This record gives sequence, C-alpha cells and structure tokens, in this order.
Amino acid sequence: MRPIRTFNVKPSLPERLEPLRELAYNLYWSWSVEIRDLFRRLDPDLWDDTRHNPVLMLGTISQERLQEALEDDGFLAQMDRAHQQLNDYLNKRTWYQKHRSGQAIEGECYAYYSAEFGLTDCLPIYSGGLGILAGDHLKSSSDIGIPLVGVGLLYQKGYFKQYLNPDGWQQERYPINDFYNMPLHLERNPDGSELHISVDYPDESLGTKKVYARIWRIQVGMVKLYLLDTNIEPNNHTDQDITDYLYGGDIDVRIRQEMMLGIGGTRALVALGYKPTAYHMNEGHAGFLSIARLEPLMQQEGLGYQEALQLAQSTQIFTTHTPVPAGIDRFPPDKVWYYIGSYCDRLSISKQQFLALGREHPEDEQEYFSMAVFAIKMATYVNGVSKLHGAVSRDMFTRLWPQLPNAEVPITSITNGVHARTWVSEDTQNLYDRYLGPSWSSGGVNDKLWERVSTIPDEELWRNHERQRAQLVLFARERLKRQLTKWGASPAEIKEAGEVLDPSALTVGFARRFATYKRGTLFMYDRNRIKKLLKNSDRKLQFVIAGKAHPKDTPGKELIRDIVRFSREEDVRHSIVFIEDYDTYVSGLMLAGCDIWLNTPRRPREASGTSGMKAAMHGCLNLSILDGWWAEADYFNTGWPIGLGEEYDDHEYQNRIESNAIYEILEKDALPLFYHRSEDGIPVGWLDKMKDSIRLNTPMFNTARMVRDYAQEAYIKASDRMGELRTQNYGKAKHLAHWKANLAQEWHAITIKSVEVSTDANDSTDVKVSQPIAVKAEIYLAGLKPADVEVELYQGIVAENGEVLDGKSYPMMLQSNSNGVSVYAAETSYGGSGLHGMSLRILPKHPSLSSSYEPRLIHWA
Ligand SMILES: *Cc1c(COP(=O)(O)O)cnc(C)c1O
Repeated sequence: MRPIRTFNVKPSLPERLEPLRELAYNLYWSWSVEIRDLFRRLDPDLWDDTRHNPVLMLGTISQERLQEALEDDGFLAQMDRAHQQLNDYLNKRTWYQKHRSGQAIEGECYAYYSAEFGLTDCLPIYSGGLGILAGDHLKSSSDIGIPLVGVGLLYQKGYFKQYLNPDGWQQERYPINDFYNMPLHLERNPDGSELHISVDYPDESLGTKKVYARIWRIQVGMVKLYLLDTNIEPNNHTDQDITDYLYGGDIDVRIRQEMMLGIGGTRALVALGYKPTAYHMNEGHAGFLSIARLEPLMQQEGLGYQEALQLAQSTQIFTTHTPVPAGIDRFPPDKVWYYIGSYCDRLSISKQQFLALGREHPEDEQEYFSMAVFAIKMATYVNGVSKLHGAVSRDMFTRLWPQLPNAEVPITSITNGVHARTWVSEDTQNLYDRYLGPSWSSGGVNDKLWERVSTIPDEELWRNHERQRAQLVLFARERLKRQLTKWGASPAEIKEAGEVLDPSALTVGFARRFATYKRGTLFMYDRNRIKKLLKNSDRKLQFVIAGKAHPKDTPGKELIRDIVRFSREEDVRHSIVFIEDYDTYVSGLMLAGCDIWLNTPRRPREASGTSGMKAAMHGCLNLSILDGWWAEADYFNTGWPIGLGEEYDDHEYQNRIESNAIYEILEKDALPLFYHRSEDGIPVGWLDKMKDSIRLNTPMFNTARMVRDYAQEAYIKASDRMGELRTQNYGKAKHLAHWKANLAQEWHAITIKSVEVSTDANDSTDVKVSQPIAVKAEIYLAGLKPADVEVELYQGIVAENGEVLDGKSYPMMLQSNSNGVSVYAAETSYGGSGLHGMSLRILPKHPSLSSSYEPRLIHWA
C-alpha cells in the first residue's frame, strides 16, 4: 500500500522542555558526556532501546515520563546546564579564528566529500575505518572552528548488520533507516517544499535524463553535513536505489553513486548558497566533483577549459586511503564515457582529453579510468594517511611522474587520528578531566598537561580499567547468551555462556574487518601453543574478537567461522569469545575493557588503522605489526611491535614467524608484567606502560592534531590561492593557464648545450671530502625566460643499480643571458666519502604554480 498522504510528525514537547529538541538535533551530544547523560537520565531504557538516538526517543517517550521530568528540578537544572554548554560551545572563540585572524579570504569555506560518515550509533551510514575517520574529521573541525562543510550520501539501507548461523557463518541483514526519526533536517525551499537538485544521467531512449535528490542536513557541532537521498519521486526505481546501499551493487551502481556524490554534492552546495574556497576529496569516490566544478566556471564565469582546470586543480585536496591498487575504483573507459560524456560534450572536452585525466599513460586507450589518478591530477595537495602509507603511495603512483625520483613524488602524508571525546569512554574521560584538565582532549604534543599523567594515582587508573574490563565481560556473556537462545541451545549451554571469560584475566582484543590480509586467525596459527597459553590458570589469558567480513568476501567469512569453531573447543571455550555485529558501540566497550589490542596486517597493507589509537588513549597496549600509524608510534614504550617492519614474499613462512613472535611476547613479556603485582594487587610495571601510552599517543594520534595539519598544510594554502586566482575576474587564473600553455609548447625545445665540471684536482673523478667543485652549464631556453624555470644541481650517493639514491637538489644561479644562451653556475662539494653522482635538471617555475601535478615538464642533463 502506498499512502495517499504522508505526514512528518514531530515530537511534541512541553514548552519548558523545548531545549531538549535543540540538544537532540545537534550531534554535539554524541561527544558530550553531560548531554548524553541527560538523555540517559530522561529514560535509561528508551535510551538503550533507541540505540542512543535522542530524536527517536523524544518522538516515542511517554507523556507521563515527560511530566515527571517537568516536575524534577534536578533534571531541569541539568538540562539548562547542558543547553548552556551547547551554546557556549557554539559561540566560543576557536583555534582557527585565532590562527587565521584577519587573514581569512572572503567567504572562506572548505567542502569535505566522503562516501561514508561514521558519526554515531544511530546513523548507520558507514562501513568502517574510512567513515569513522570522516566523522571524526567533522567533529574535530567543529571543535577547533575550521569552516568546513561535509558532503555525502544518505543510504536507505546503509551497511549490513551481522549475525552468525550456528556454524559461525556470517549472515547479513539490512535494516531500513527511518530518516524522519534520526537527527536529520530536510532542506526546503522558502515555500516549504523540499529542495531538490538534479544530476544528468544517460538514458537509452532520451539521451540524458535528470535524476533528482533531496538534501538532508546533520548539525555536527558547528559543522553542517549535507547528505543526498535519491529515494524520491519522480525518479524511477533504479534511480531511487542509487542511495540504497553503501558500497552495494555492480560497477554501474558504483559510478552512479559516485556521480551523485561528486556532481550532486557540488550542485547541492551551489543550491544552498555555498561557494567553497577549497575542496577535499576523502578517497577517490568523490572525484567527479571536478566535472561539476568545471561546468559553472566555464559556462557562467566564461573561463576556457584550461583556465577552469587550473583553478579547480589549484584548490582541490585529495587524500588516498589504500596501499593496494585493487582498493582503487577503476572503470572501463567506455563505461565512464557513457556516464560522463554528456558533461564533456557540453563543455567541449573531447573523450581523449577527459579519459587522459584518469590514466597513468594518457595515450594508452586500453587503460582503465582510475578515480585515484583522476583525483591526483585534479589536486594541488595529495596525501596518504600515515608516514609509511605516504611512502607506499609515492611508489604506487610514481608512474605519474616518470622523471622524478620516488622520494620527490609530490604525495605527502598526514597521519590519521581519532576524536578523543568520542572514543575515550565516559569514565576514563572523567578521570582525565580531573587529573589533566578538560583541554586534554585536544591538547598538543608539547602541552605541559601531559606531564600530569604521572599524577593519576595508579590505584585509580587501575580500578577504572578493571571496572571497564568487567563491563566488557558482562556484555560479552549477554551477547553470547542471546545468540545461543536464538539458536535454540539447551538451558545448560546458555547457563554456561553466562560464565565465559574472567573479569580479572589479561584480555586481548581483536576487532576489525575480516579481510584476509588482516589475518584475523594469526593468533591461533599454532593451536597447541595458544591453547597452552590459554589453559595456564596462574596467568589467565583470554581473547575477545569481533568484526564483519564484506558480504562478498567468502575467505573473510571463513576466517570468522574458523574462530567461532575454535572458540567452541572444550579447553578454550571459556577464554575466546566472538562478539556478533561489531559497531561503534561494541568497539567502545572493547577498547575500554581490553588490556592488549592486537593487530596483524600484512605490512604494508594497513594504510593507517585507527582502532589501535582509540585503545592507546585508554592505556590499552598495542601489540601490532609495524604498519600504518603504529610504525611511527613509540612502540617499545607503549606496547610491543610484532617483528620490526619486515616484509615477506613467502606468506606461510611469514605467518609462522609472526605468530611465533606474538606467543613469545605474550609468554615472556606481557603476561609476566601483567601478573607482577604490588602488595595491594596493582601491576605497577604495567601501569607505567599504560601511562606512557596515554601520554605519548593521545596528543599525537588525535584528530585535533590531524585537522590542524590539514588546515595548515592544505586548506589555508588552497584557499589563499583561490583568493588570488579569482581576483580581477579570474585574471590570474587566465594568466597562469596561458603561461602553462606556452610552457608546454616551448618545453621540448629546451636544450642543455654544455655542462662543465671543474675541480682543482688533476684527476677529475677523484675528489676529496669538502673539496670545492664548480659546475657551469649553458642552456638554451627556447621561447621561455629565465624567470620561467628553475635550474638545479642534483646530487647524492650512487646505489648498486647505478641510480642516485636520496638525491638532494640545489639551485644554480643565472650568470648571464645573451644570444639565446643562459649560463648557470653553482659551487658544490661532498660532505662524505664514497661514490657520488651528480646531475642537472630544469623545472618550471611560476609564483602561482601550485598543482602537484606537472608530470612531464622536467629536463635532466
Ligand atoms: C575505529 C573503528 C574502525 C576502524 O578501525 P581500524 O583499526 O581501521 O580497523 C572500524 N570500525 C569501528 C566500529 C571502529 O570503531
């Protein structure tokens, strides 16, 4: 039955309780202990039953309960305090205002696009790490006042919920999201009708057709997040389904979704009156935003293709999140052209021109269109998400800059973080607030407050942690009982489930996506050895495990089944539990309650990883392969490294070596340290490590640090460039485009006519350390001027393969410029002995040149 009319019924609240509505609709509650506490107090059962959704709560709460609250002075006072706290938060003077005071360009605003956002339990529109990172990015941007606006998709069915069948095989269920009972606002026109935007899609019979989307807004503290939803009239069913599932469907669905995100998202911002001064693509899914940006620049602002391209490129930022080529969206050329061709036709961009933007080798007509390559070519700043991942990305995309040494490939890194107020448990936050002061959650690495970690009494830190471990154990038992009941287990079995795990045993947590490279079963590689450890009743050890496999990942599902089967074996059933349906709620309990956080990816496949950071902030010690963020942490003092960063070709051998390392660390180091107790039962040595973990990791692997980095390294620079390029009716952008066109034309004609290297020694191949060497070069610059180029001396040690290793470049000075010949000179010497190589190179130079992508324009001697 389709209804003849629909109503959006809003909660009805007594006047005095109206502040609850404002509190419910600003996601600030998701990281304010005080406001969450208020909703919990209003109705504890309903708070849990609604999956911590205050909007649904206010819509379903009984009138009696509201009446009681009205008569409860204590509650009203807490509500007023919470309301005041929100207002203070929204009106505070921020880091960004101070940092940027007086320099912000007009209308400064950064648009942040992501296919998923993980903000809180009751908004299931994320699948894992990428989404959670995006959610934390918004929250920290709000905390420090970055003028950010988020753009994404609102999925009707989101990502699946996991349950297991009695054999441990993963089953998926997709609950339907009820948008009207979520903390979402629908954007409307002044006349009250829904605001719709449209995106052009190909159509078999019409050529092209419009697909419409409405726009939902989530208020995340000070930041607004806009989410598109195509499930509306007059879209046909296929088009309504574009925003049905996150990462569902085939390649066509994927492209259609990415068009909605990139093109629809950009059109939504226009419709809402935004003119962002920089654009950030969180992963390549949003790459099509470049197309959407070119259109108004060319059609309304009258720029040519190259000019518009320059402007777009100079103001876009791209963050890559995968270290493996298979993790990148690549589309057959004819397929992308089928979808995007009509846009290019309208802008007179040829098929070849467009496809070249997504290819490593623009001339190769067979090459697939890569969304990451497209995003890189359309960005001024490109980064990976940990130092190691930055280096891996430079290798992965090195073919885009064939003449640059890998180390100079312009892809850098900003290491991920997590939002401390979201991820640190409420009890632990209270403890830190008391001993470190409330600014700990965004404190910088050098803040004095971190010295105060040592003032937290051991006893208090330990009791707090033990309480949280006990909570985790209770929760695991409840979940297990529920599962067994569902499967129709016997009362005896259900009773036994109520006794699994030990609230005081050393608890190892492992929770992540079950992809084979993460090796979820590595800890049980040698069954006898792990059983021996688990059966030792003097030094009890136990594992709590959770995680989902991608619905199509059969090998991933097999890993889950293997763990579940193993956990049923008689002698370990009390000490291994697999918790169903990993989500933010489960992860919160595990991160606070575990003692060790295990991570076993095959290096270097974990770009960053963030759950270990959340653990570290609680003082839960990481035991992990040196990959992602952990490779740059203080891994000896705040946990243990598994291996020292080795990489292997023989995976079986690797599993043997690395599982053995886990057993050795547990047996010889972790277990003895954990069970070495003072007279009052406190593991003093263990607590030292916990405190080091809190002190050293919290300020560093925090999104407060991360978004400050993005602001300083990328956003502000891009925004300033926008300010410059758009002045005088885009005069600078036009000038830059013409300069580049000229450069491209003249470049091939540049010739290095002669290079003279002289030393005061007789034999010119033998020089001494520090002995001066003079270099002089004659260069023909064709139609270019000396101001258009940088001439550099490039030198370093020569490796076995004959290449210069870790070379450094030094500018050469222009000596004279006459008769079409420019003479450059430099003096150099070598600081160390050995075989050194030297070369000379010419690069383009222009004050407005900002794009990281100047691939072919380099001359080597
Ligand atoms: C933090 C978190 C993640 C990401 O953690 P990884 O270490 O990258 O696996 C995924 N899912 C949930 C529920 C999380 O809380």
